[in-house]
Amino acid sequence: MKELLMAFASTDNTRSDFLHAPFNIGEHTFSTNGYTLICVEKQGEYNEVPIEKLKGVWPVEPNCNKSYSVEAIRQAVNACPLINETECDECYECDGAGEVEWDYDGKKGKQYHQEFECPCCDGTGEINTRLTGRRIFKKYDDAFHIVLNDSVFGAEYLNHIVLAADFFATTEVTLLAEGKAARNCFKIGNAEVIIMPVLHQDDETKAAMTVVPELTHA
Ligand SMILES: [Zn+2]
Repeated sequence: MKELLMAFASTDNTRSDFLHAPFNIGEHTFSTNGYTLICVEKQGEYNEVPIEKLKGVWPVEPNCNKSYSVEAIRQAVNACPLINETECDECYECDGAGEVEWDYDGKKGKQYHQEFECPCCDGTGEINTRLTGRRIFKKYDDAFHIVLNDSVFGAEYLNHIVLAADFFATTEVTLLAEGKAARNCFKIGNAEVIIMPVLHQDDETKAAMTVVPELTHA
């Protein structure tokens, strides 16, 4: 269970502290990175936080009851290409601004002063960790989207649905709450998993969508 909970926690050090480890509220244990959240029965060993931390996020009012095949979701996630992402640090020279001030002493004594693109990061404000050994990791291509019901999701979040379904050894998940621009809540085994849909799509991404059909029981 701990591994599953940690898969939902944030690895981004700039995010709020309580997103980095599971926590308890009342009779439940939660883990979230601010974009996906899992709620399970209380596990006992985690810090208690006030319920206000999840204000507007949990609990979710059910407005829907549709089933989906975990295998169909898994296939859609697996069809999404993985791309390389290079971890970058804020540029040490311009502190992330992308610009630095240059002074030039003219031959006739005049001083010239201007802001220019930072020469260390070429104006991006980020520098990859090539000097200290860069870290490349795989991530799902953001351009590929998966449609369930009326909402569009990224493969990364739907992969969390698959992780939870595998943990609870269930072949079906139920969409309990839906909303094109709101959090979607799935019931998976004894857990609830909340994921956010993709809010903005451009025409390029519309070409790369997989639709996972609702499961109908004959
Ligand atoms: Zn720079």
